[in-house]
Amino acid sequence: MKHDYSYRERQQELDAARQFRLGDGKISGYCSVALGTLSLLAVLAYLYPAYLTTIELRQAYDAAFLQQFLKYGMYFSLFFGILSFVLNGYKRLGAAGIVLTLIAFALGGYTLPVGPVEPRRLSLGVDWLILAFLGSTIIFITLEKLFPKYRNQVVLRPEWGLDLLYFCFNHLAISAILIYGNYHASHFDWALSESVQQAIRSVPLLLQVMVIILCADFVLYWEHRLYHEVQLLWPIHAVHHSIEHLDWLAGSRGHFIQVFSERAMVMVPLYLLGADQAALDIYVAFAALQAILIHCNLGISFGPLKCILVTPQFHHWHHSSEKPAIDTNYSAHTVLFDRLFGTYHMPVKHWPADYGTTVRLPRSYIGQLLYPLTRHLRKK
Ligand SMILES: [Zn+2]
Ligand SMILES: [Zn+2]
Repeated sequence: MKHDYSYRERQQELDAARQFRLGDGKISGYCSVALGTLSLLAVLAYLYPAYLTTIELRQAYDAAFLQQFLKYGMYFSLFFGILSFVLNGYKRLGAAGIVLTLIAFALGGYTLPVGPVEPRRLSLGVDWLILAFLGSTIIFITLEKLFPKYRNQVVLRPEWGLDLLYFCFNHLAISAILIYGNYHASHFDWALSESVQQAIRSVPLLLQVMVIILCADFVLYWEHRLYHEVQLLWPIHAVHHSIEHLDWLAGSRGHFIQVFSERAMVMVPLYLLGADQAALDIYVAFAALQAILIHCNLGISFGPLKCILVTPQFHHWHHSSEKPAIDTNYSAHTVLFDRLFGTYHMPVKHWPADYGTTVRLPRSYIGQLLYPLTRHLRKK
C-alpha cells in the first residue's frame, strides 16, 4: 500500500523571534556566552585534568598547544560581550559571557602549567565536550546554513536547550560509556579467534575499515530494530524519536540507557575483529561524523552515494511520524541491511512532512528520563 501514500511538503514557517539577525547583538551575545562557558570549562579542565579530561582523548591532543586556542576563545568572548553592549542588544548575555571569561582569567586563564596527569579511568569528559561542541558547531552549522533543507528552520529552534543538555551529558559521560562498553565486550572473549584477527589485519587499511563498518552496521541494525519492535524497549528509544526539528544537535537526544547500550553493542564486533588501531580510529571518526550528519537540516543530494550510505534524507525518514515510514530505515552506516531485511523506505523525491512520535512524550529532560517508567506504570 506504500505507493498509494500521498506525500506532502513540510510547512516550516520562519520564526522571526528566534532568528539570528546581523546587527541586533543576538549573535554577539550568544557567541560571548558560549565562548565564556567553554573557556571557563577549559580552565577548570587544565586545573583538574585527572577528573575533567579523558585518558583516550589526552593521547590525541597536545594540551599545551590547545592553550593557544583557549587564549583566542577568551579574548573573543570578551570582544563579543563588549560588541553586544555597543550594538545595544542582548546585553545580559554579553555581560554573562564577560563575567564567565573574567572568572576563567582569575583562575589562571590560558597560562596554567601543563604537566603529567594522574591516570584515572573514570572522569568527566569536559575536554571531549569542548572539542566536540566547537567542531560540531563550526562544521555543521556552516553546512546547514549553506545547504539547508528547510531554509526557514532557525539555529535556536524549539527545544534546542533540551538537546544541548543531552549533548553535554553524552560527552561528559564518555569515559563511563567506554568503561561499560569494554566491560560488556569482555564477555565475548569466548568468541575471539586469532586466525580471524590475523586475516583482518592482513588486508589493506581501507578494506579493514569497510569490514568494521559492515559488522558494526549489522549489530546496530538489529539493536535498533529491537528497540522499535520489542514493546518493553520502545519507550526508551522513543525519547530519540520525540525530536520534531532535526538538525546537527537533534541526534544527541537519547535516553542514557540507549546511549550506553548502543556503544556497548557496537564495541563487540570492534573487539572481536581486532583490526589495526588506525582502522578503528578511522571508523570511530566516520561513525561520529555520520551520526551528526544524518540528523542535519541538510538538502545536499549526495548523488549515487545515497544508494550506499545512510544520508540525512534516509535518516530523516526514520524520524517521520508518517505511516509508510514507521519502523523503517534502521541502519546507521549503509543502507544494505534495510534493503536486505525489507525495512528500506526512501521515496527519493520526497522528504517527511511530519517528524516525531505518534504519542507525544514529556518535553523535559527528567520527564523523558522517567518516560520508560511512567509509560509502563500508566499502561498497568
Ligand atoms: Zn529509531
Ligand atoms: Zn536519529
